Amino acid sequence: MATPPADSLRFECQPGCIKCCDRHGFVYITENDVQQMAKFLGMTVPAFEAQYVFRTARQLRLRKPRRSQCHFLRKNVNGGGSCSIHPVKPVQCRTYPFWPELVEYRDVWNYEATKCPGINQGSLIQIGEAMEIASEMKTAYPWSYPNLE
Ligand code: SF4
Ligand code: SF4
Repeated sequence: MATPPADSLRFECQPGCIKCCDRHGFVYITENDVQQMAKFLGMTVPAFEAQYVFRTARQLRLRKPRRSQCHFLRKNVNGGGSCSIHPVKPVQCRTYPFWPELVEYRDVWNYEATKCPGINQGSLIQIGEAMEIASEMKTAYPWSYPNLE
């Protein structure tokens, strides 16, 4: 059985780390993300969508390039890297690791620390603040949280 959330959490993203960007999976986006990313790249929304977005009836996600997890991931020779659209990165990228499925269960949060070296580092964040950030995920991707409030 999953454990309840901790009273507070620690997190500090580690410089040069790209583990979460390089992990297998999809980057889901919102309509607002599309607008912001297109503007940041100096593209029209239709041109950005045609090149970078995969749209279904309920979901939007970034298309994946052939040999990388994300078109916007820039790797350096040391194995680290950065996001080339950092100021406008999608909701799921910006809010990680404060996702409902992580912050709401202490054991899941601690397990995620095996994948994200920033978890359990840095200053304390009260659980209320973490939950507030997590609620942005529920608003952005309601189809992903059908059983959550
Ligand atoms: S895995 Fe964690 S520490 Fe690394 S870039 Fe992602 S959020 Fe930051
Ligand atoms: S958009 Fe940026 S932060 Fe999100 S997965 Fe791609 S490179 Fe990483």
